[in-house]
Amino acid sequence: MLSIDGAQHSDLRTGRAPWANGARPPRRSLDKDRRCDVLVVGAGITGALVAEHLVRDGRDVCIVDRERPGLGSTAASTAMLLWEIDRPLASLTDVYGFERAARAYRLSLQAVRGLQSLVEQRQIACRMRARNSLYLAAGTTDAQALMKEHELRVRAGLPGHFLDYQTLRQQFGIDREAALLSPDAADADPLCLAHGLMARAVAGGGHLFDADAVHYDTGNQRTTVVMDDGHSIEADWVVLATGYVMPDFMASEIHRVTTTWAVATPPQPRRVRWRGEALIWEATEHYLYLRTTEDHRIVVGGGDDEAISKPDDRASATPDKTQFLLAGLRGLLPDAEPCAETAWSGVFGTTADGLPLIGPVAGHPRLLAAYGYGGNGITFGFLAAELIAGLIGGRRAAWYDDFPVGRPLPSALK
Ligand SMILES: Cc1cc2nc3c(=O)[nH]c(=O)nc-3n(C[C@H](O)[C@H](O)[C@H](O)COP(=O)(O)OP(=O)(O)OC[C@H]3O[C@@H](n4cnc5c(N)ncnc54)[C@H](O)[C@@H]3O)c2cc1C
Repeated sequence: MLSIDGAQHSDLRTGRAPWANGARPPRRSLDKDRRCDVLVVGAGITGALVAEHLVRDGRDVCIVDRERPGLGSTAASTAMLLWEIDRPLASLTDVYGFERAARAYRLSLQAVRGLQSLVEQRQIACRMRARNSLYLAAGTTDAQALMKEHELRVRAGLPGHFLDYQTLRQQFGIDREAALLSPDAADADPLCLAHGLMARAVAGGGHLFDADAVHYDTGNQRTTVVMDDGHSIEADWVVLATGYVMPDFMASEIHRVTTTWAVATPPQPRRVRWRGEALIWEATEHYLYLRTTEDHRIVVGGGDDEAISKPDDRASATPDKTQFLLAGLRGLLPDAEPCAETAWSGVFGTTADGLPLIGPVAGHPRLLAAYGYGGNGITFGFLAAELIAGLIGGRRAAWYDDFPVGRPLPSALK
């Protein structure tokens, strides 16, 4: 365990998030070439959401993953299901104009609500809990900037309240200039969510295989994906949901891969619990976010994300990152026990504009992709499942063009 004074004890488990290792969906090896309507490559939260949706639509679906499903970014996720996007609405408006930015926020709100009702309807046991979110003033995002953000959100038809210093202090005991309090967020156990959705897909007729997709032979009518053992799957459509590992032909000007850290404290005493255990977050360069778990731990994440990809380098950075996160926790909640029982890092894909890359892959007519989610990974995974199922079903909605996979870096960000 690592405490704020820097004393390091031997039981600090680097690399493990505190999620349940629940029942995994059954997986088989690919013992012959196959054919199906849709092949989903990747069985993290995105692959699970897409597969569950397509099976529900009556498609014959195969899913392949080269690792144990869920053990990519999904297992490391802190699973704060926020509709508020990493890039504030005011900033997204500067990049894409108010209408498109507001539409992205409204779609994100619908996605979190949609995910909550999917989990309820399909009875997925993933410890999902409805939550408010509390977005705190920090750094240059001061009270005035938050008020401007609030006014834009109201104009976009989004719910929430502005809390001034006094109200924030009275309601949450937090010493910050201001905050935005918003409904309709949630939290969950990300591994149980991904496994539960995939189990539904398999129970509904989906086929989950242990296989590494190494070659894509794309055509106008169908695509054949060849696995590393030589077997192949031919499909009318192939959905790429490989997380931060994108195939070479998917190079994107605005996508980057980054490493981020999180810690979980031991269970905290009742006096530390804040109102409604809202999801707390702030958007500065050295951002911090926190949530609780059902067994009263506080999960703290953020700090400076870094482009470290080697596991050893990530592990050696973990003690410093842990100290930073625990100091942030103590600054926000002085009564909390600032101590890490587990600390872990994870790699994920993100984009320069804060929006995901979802849709057709140029030059490959039967390939659809879902990448680059940043901190809104699970919310955008739900959005990806809706959009991809719509395209495969021959439907179109105006918003389907809002997240193009091959978009260049917007001029406002150059
Ligand atoms: C520490 C941390 C905290 C986070 N916190 C949040 C949060 O609070 N809220 C939130 O919404 N998001 C959060 N995220 C982001 C979120 O976790 C990710 O965006 C999301 O899990 C991505 O899911 P995915 O299914 O697209 O990718 P992954 O989970 O990485 O799954 C991709 C799968 O594809 C498989 N694969 C790759 N290549 C191949 C291949 N060639 N053949 C077969 N299989 C292949 C991999 O084995 C893997 O299982 C966080 C991420 C991290 C790391």
